Amino acid sequence: MLDDILHILYLIGLIVGSVIRAWYGKKYRQNRTAIFREEGFIIGLLASLWGVAILLPLLHILTNWLDFADYNLPAWAGWVGVLLFAISLWLLWRSHADLGRNWSTTTEIKEGHTLVTNGVFKYVRHPMYSAHWLWGIAQALLVQDWIAGLASLVVFIPLYMLRVPREERMMLKQFGPEYRLYVKQTGRIIPRLWR
Ligand code: SAH
Repeated sequence: MLDDILHILYLIGLIVGSVIRAWYGKKYRQNRTAIFREEGFIIGLLASLWGVAILLPLLHILTNWLDFADYNLPAWAGWVGVLLFAISLWLLWRSHADLGRNWSTTTEIKEGHTLVTNGVFKYVRHPMYSAHWLWGIAQALLVQDWIAGLASLVVFIPLYMLRVPREERMMLKQFGPEYRLYVKQTGRIIPRLWR
């Protein structure tokens, strides 16, 4: 019974997350030409695989193909998953809204690119990636299956590790001292509470 509730909440979240992505994608994707782009093959592949990884729960929920990989967590863990998923979706929405025209699916600098340091970017440099981390953890708590539950974390962890240093190097090259100061004032994906 609780499993069914958690699964339905995952499906609702998947729809909400996809709508947020599609809405801002449509609004901002082709708005300006990239003047610098850096995207390795592996990073592009992992980013595409993430799109598959968040859909794998459909197999767990709608078929019995992955039954052999089930695990069972206590009820509270499922509710923690619901909370983390809600925070993830809120952060996904706010980070897209705050990044606005500077958003892109690849690592790139566009014509007229500005450094965003307001909204959720005031606290962390990569709020969208924080949202992806939270999504991954929530997926593992809501979809209790070694394959479908852990898929997005397994894909996202190497993606995050490869992409963030490149992205920060690119931003530093583009914005110099302004970005250096911004790095000092913010956390990467967790706010610096001690400052
Ligand atoms: N890493 C960010 C943004 C992901 S979208 C996050 O997790 O929220 C990727 C694009 O965002 C990159 O191509 C980069 O050009 C742009 N970007 C990242 N941080 C930015 C910032 N603070 N201001 C403006 N653009 C930024």
